Amino acid sequence: MIGKRLADELNKQINIELFAAYQYFSMAAYCEAKSLDGFASWMKVQAQEELSHALKIYDYLIDRGATVTMLAIEQPKVKFNSVLDAFQTALKNEEDLGTRFNELSEIAREEKDNITYSFLKWFLDEQVEEVALVSSVIDKLKLIGDNGYGLLMLSNELGQRQPEPTAE
Ligand code: MG
Repeated sequence: MIGKRLADELNKQINIELFAAYQYFSMAAYCEAKSLDGFASWMKVQAQEELSHALKIYDYLIDRGATVTMLAIEQPKVKFNSVLDAFQTALKNEEDLGTRFNELSEIAREEKDNITYSFLKWFLDEQVEEVALVSSVIDKLKLIGDNGYGLLMLSNELGQRQPEPTAE
């Protein structure tokens, strides 16, 4: 069975992942309102990934005999100045998630819980990928600037992305 301190922190992490999904849904809605369907679709794939992260932690806690409690989800940012602003919000969120998993790994080490430490490794690697992915979109958006045609092209390109099959 997992210790109370880590169980509480991981329970909180479920909430943080759900918030991340909520934030992506909010960005998707912003893009949808601007008829940038490709960006919206990409954001929705991201949101689904965050939901799968929440579920992965949920399942882990259940497997380790902990009690899972659903906490209140904070309201995400709903107003954006531009698509770039939305992606910059996403980047900040992904970077914060990376910091958070680093902290969780530290706690697992302090608690001498090697099973949880190993479980968290996947998330640490995942965050590196997420930050790189969002950063590359931001780089492209900066190149495009105010060019509407470029924005539509990138939206169409990102809209091609399909949800990844969830790895077990
Ligand atoms: Mg996540």
